[in-house]
Amino acid sequence: MTFSKIRVRYAPSPTGEPHLGNIRTALFDWLIARNASGEFIVRVEDTDQARKIEGAIDLQKASLEWLGLDWDEGLGKSGEYGPYTQSERLGLYTEAVDQLLNTEKAYRCFCSSERLADLRKVQLESKSPTVGYDGHCSTLKIAEEDLSDPFVVRFLMPNNGLSELEDMVRGHLEFDNSLSDDFVIMKSDGYPTYHLASVVDDHHMNISHVLRGEEWLSSVPRHVQLYEAFGWEMPRFAHLPTILAPDKSKLSKRHGATSVLEYKKMGYLPEAMFNFLSLLGWSLDGETEIISKETLINSFDANRINSASAIFDIEKLNWMNGLYIRNMSDLELATRLTNYWEEFPPDDFDRKPNSDEMQAVASLLKERIKILSEASGLIAFVFKEEIQFELQELVQKRMDEESTKKILEEVSGTLSKMDSFSSSAIELELRSLADSMEMKVGALLGTVRVATSGQKVSPPLFESLEVLGRDRVLDLLRLAKSKIS
Ligand code: GLU
Repeated sequence: MTFSKIRVRYAPSPTGEPHLGNIRTALFDWLIARNASGEFIVRVEDTDQARKIEGAIDLQKASLEWLGLDWDEGLGKSGEYGPYTQSERLGLYTEAVDQLLNTEKAYRCFCSSERLADLRKVQLESKSPTVGYDGHCSTLKIAEEDLSDPFVVRFLMPNNGLSELEDMVRGHLEFDNSLSDDFVIMKSDGYPTYHLASVVDDHHMNISHVLRGEEWLSSVPRHVQLYEAFGWEMPRFAHLPTILAPDKSKLSKRHGATSVLEYKKMGYLPEAMFNFLSLLGWSLDGETEIISKETLINSFDANRINSASAIFDIEKLNWMNGLYIRNMSDLELATRLTNYWEEFPPDDFDRKPNSDEMQAVASLLKERIKILSEASGLIAFVFKEEIQFELQELVQKRMDEESTKKILEEVSGTLSKMDSFSSSAIELELRSLADSMEMKVGALLGTVRVATSGQKVSPPLFESLEVLGRDRVLDLLRLAKSKIS
């Protein structure tokens, strides 16, 4: 191998939101590069102008940035998206196509779309073993003036022999050349096709390893022959396994979100997502699940990418995310939640928590949430002007309005006399109050819970009361009492 440096590229097409499969490829690329102190490059493959979607590259950028997949070359270096945007490199492809035309490894094809459609129909009806272009224009003699007619350029595939590849994931692959037709390398609009542009770019960018989804396997013979025709050394190839749903069907919307940024919005942590994606088709030792980024960088080995389909298991992702949350300090979680709520403001808060409150909230929630979006619903009562509940929710089992009123009065009295309003002191006082009132502690605490949170289930009551603060708690108890006539 003559590549002096490991250089890998992630080559998104700006045709939509980056999905999990795209970003898993980028992540494996990034790990290979960082493991070998090599370079990770992002190249925009926008040669299919008709499918281009405005803003799609910004979404790619945002996804890479969210996961910390920083790139060394590509996006944003100059021009709108940098020098590695294929539509800005058309001269390079024209030059490459001319080289193939001049050496008679490619030819111009003037066939109309009607002719191609008829040809296909006949081939399908006659159950021809090959369906594709019949080489009609390969022997055409072309005069200068013909060049004003629309044409495409086709690559002259050898019609015998094999195209072979040692794939890093699938091992030895061979394809019978006679089964591939003369494919288009330049379209009539002057744009190259994916096949030509990716080979030319991978060569000019000194790409040492190409990682791409296994849906590209059928392109292998075309690419092998293009490299051969140019006389260029091939990079190593790794065709990554498809990500499937647990029922082994193609991952789609009905299994949950497929776009990476949706997961950000749902409150998954980038480090958990990073860890999770790294295991979709790869493993450290077949069993370790929680792996830090540093360990991944140090131990990632593309030779251990698995060829079996990877299963996207949302339960596992939830478990992993919950674990990453539980392993954080309160301060860290408070910072994450603050940033998360900044970007995706909860609609059930009437005011913004301050930083002391945030830390208290983080400690209350740490054991109770798996994803950040679950937090606001559990804690909203702390930041609401008004607590809503029905009288019958306030009155606990085997209690009546009179005894409920009594609880509210006694609790208020006890809480206002306390020296320190800490959660442990509140717990002690309220438990002994229930004793002295000769009532079940559950009924007393249930009443206080509904009065102060409007919820039957809330984060731990005593800690919540501490976060709310004595004045607010007394206010809420008074309000609750006023509901009882
Ligand atoms: N633009 C192609 C895609 O988005 C890239 C395939 C490749 O990595 O070669 O799938």
